[in-house]
Amino acid sequence: MTSLKDLPLRQNLVGKTPYGAPQDPVAVSLNVNENTHPIPEAVITEIVAELTRAVRGVNRYPDRDFVELREALAGYLGHGLTASQLWAANGSNEVLQQILQAFGGPGRSLLSFTPTYSMYPLLADGTDTQWVPVERPADYALTPDFVSETLRLHAPSIAILCGPNNPTGTPLDLDTITAAYDAFDGILVVDEAYHEFDAERESAVTLLQGRPRLLVSRTMSKAFAFAGVRLGYLAADPAVVDALKLVRLPYHLSALTQAAAMAAIRHASEMLATVADIRVQRDRLARALSELGYLVHPSGANFLLVGGFANPTATFEALLAEGILIRDLGIPGHLRITAGTENETTMLITALTALTSAER
Ligand code: PMP
Repeated sequence: MTSLKDLPLRQNLVGKTPYGAPQDPVAVSLNVNENTHPIPEAVITEIVAELTRAVRGVNRYPDRDFVELREALAGYLGHGLTASQLWAANGSNEVLQQILQAFGGPGRSLLSFTPTYSMYPLLADGTDTQWVPVERPADYALTPDFVSETLRLHAPSIAILCGPNNPTGTPLDLDTITAAYDAFDGILVVDEAYHEFDAERESAVTLLQGRPRLLVSRTMSKAFAFAGVRLGYLAADPAVVDALKLVRLPYHLSALTQAAAMAAIRHASEMLATVADIRVQRDRLARALSELGYLVHPSGANFLLVGGFANPTATFEALLAEGILIRDLGIPGHLRITAGTENETTMLITALTALTSAER
């Protein structure tokens, strides 16, 4: 039988493992930071109506530049943004890949602050871009001084600041972003996949004016409860959008994706109505786990990174045996847990409380 080893794979992909968060069918799935609430029935009806209209036109290619969707996204973000500053793709993963295709590549580098989103090094490998991981300080928080010193030293082609950061939950302050921008002359991407959960902070889109190398990446996969649709987007200078048009595949956003996303954005307030409760559940989970003696890292996202597990793999397996799936990212002593519905959170707290008292 042929195996990967027998194929003339590109050298920088040899020995690499693909992205592989488990997708086990369990009752309580809290492992990939989705919004676990269903989307409202009234919005489902609207989306279906919009999809029906779109299906009637699928004998033709979709609008290659998805202008209506970009206008809708600009309206959602506000701050005077226009369609010419917006771009979208099949998940923010694809947006990030297009950024690397346009601004990375052989002889160029991508820097980020680890632990961070596990796809960044894979996207670097896939585009022959050198991956430069720089470890975060012990509390995972990035400061203007730390970030600007690092970027001055390495002068990467691209840097990604993830805020709130996956998997640590650490919020990102605007003064860290502006310091980063001023410290090097490459492309600075702020990955705001979890922004809507961080009610305490303004978006980096407020910094776009006069900063043509600043790119702000967002997604409908998290707060919008739309992960299955695959819609990520970007706000940046119109020249950046011109650059991304050079590398995107023609008609990369299907007519169905465009239609579903437009209907959802039209109903943004209903789609985002669960965000407040998810924050309540996150904070409730944080309190419960702290009381159990675990170390809960501050989070601006819909998940928590939790330390203090004597054997994280054993805890992960014990929860899975009870139908609760969380995430073991290989950070010593730590596990990552998505904040779910009130019921899911209760089940998790109950199961962890029982496991913890059995251990002690
Ligand atoms: N950025 C971060 C920080 C993420 O955690 C994720 C999803 N886990 C993504 C980007 C990609 O999400 P999507 O492709 O669904 O938009």
